[in-house]
Amino acid sequence: MLLSVVVPCMNEEASIPMLVERLIAATDAWRGDTEIVLVDDGSTDDTWSAICAQCAEHSAIRGLKLSMNRGHQVALTAGLMAAKGERIFMLDADLQDPPELLSDMMAMMDRGYDVVYGRRSERKGESWFKKVTAHGFYRVLNRLSDVPIPNDTGDFRLVTRRALDAVLQMPERARFIRGMFAWAGFRQIGIEYIRDPRVAGETKYPLSKMIRFAFDAMASFSIKPLQIATRMAFLTLIVAALMGVYVFGSLILYNTVAGWASTVLIISFFSGIQLLTLGIMGEYLGRLYVEAKGRPLFFVDEQAGDAVEPVVEKIANHQ
Ligand code: UDP
Ligand code: MG
Repeated sequence: MLLSVVVPCMNEEASIPMLVERLIAATDAWRGDTEIVLVDDGSTDDTWSAICAQCAEHSAIRGLKLSMNRGHQVALTAGLMAAKGERIFMLDADLQDPPELLSDMMAMMDRGYDVVYGRRSERKGESWFKKVTAHGFYRVLNRLSDVPIPNDTGDFRLVTRRALDAVLQMPERARFIRGMFAWAGFRQIGIEYIRDPRVAGETKYPLSKMIRFAFDAMASFSIKPLQIATRMAFLTLIVAALMGVYVFGSLILYNTVAGWASTVLIISFFSGIQLLTLGIMGEYLGRLYVEAKGRPLFFVDEQAGDAVEPVVEKIANHQ
């Protein structure tokens, strides 16, 4: 049985030698063959040369270089499409997710689970801001999402071929892989682990990317924000009706000219609600537009290592 390890890498030249060393050690106990697919997601440093150097040294390693930076989720998808294994293990290049957890995950899979995901019980070496926003993100997402997406889990997981094939059948461009696995179903279980600090380099998720990622996740897994807009519209109608009673009342009772304060208040309240509603609709419309264009998710620039499957052909089938 073949085990595939898939790692998206962007500007990780310093992590790669350590990553490979620990992966080779962690997969040593595996009874079958192993392939390690390293995806270079448009790095601007020497990540690709680092990957090629590892391919030359170890026959199990394969490299895939995307034509430009497409983001973590697309890079991971590219690696998953190239993976040929019966079991597929995915993790980040920065070793925040310990490869040594593989043996525990394998044991769970032997008991019949299709998806064994890592659940972060603690995050080490990350800013309080990242911890707080990440904590909030998973909880809000879960309230909105129609399928339960496990809290505090990343893409660090071991999956079976049939679970992966289910996810690869989902053609959407806004990819939120952990949610897609949750949606696929099958038997799933989590293993708790402590998330280590990065071994090298900086995070590739600045605030702007985190916000984009959160929007993608929520808009891909829920239409509740659209319904919130409708609910708010009802709420404002009620408020407007009450205001109407008040305005008429004061007109009859006091014969006053309406004050500017209430006018300003009403105008700002309603324009706020309108803009928010428009914004939410715009988010969905934009996603619809991107999906409707139906462009390929990525292009492969170069490949390294032997036994490389024609990935492009697979993508063509996928669409
Ligand atoms: N990554 C990628 N493309 C990107 C951003 C990130 O392939 O555009 C990879 C990165 O090299 C790492 C993983 O995705 O292996 C997770 O990124 P990072 O560690 O920066 O995120 P964090 O752990 O800080 O959330
Ligand atoms: Mg990281």
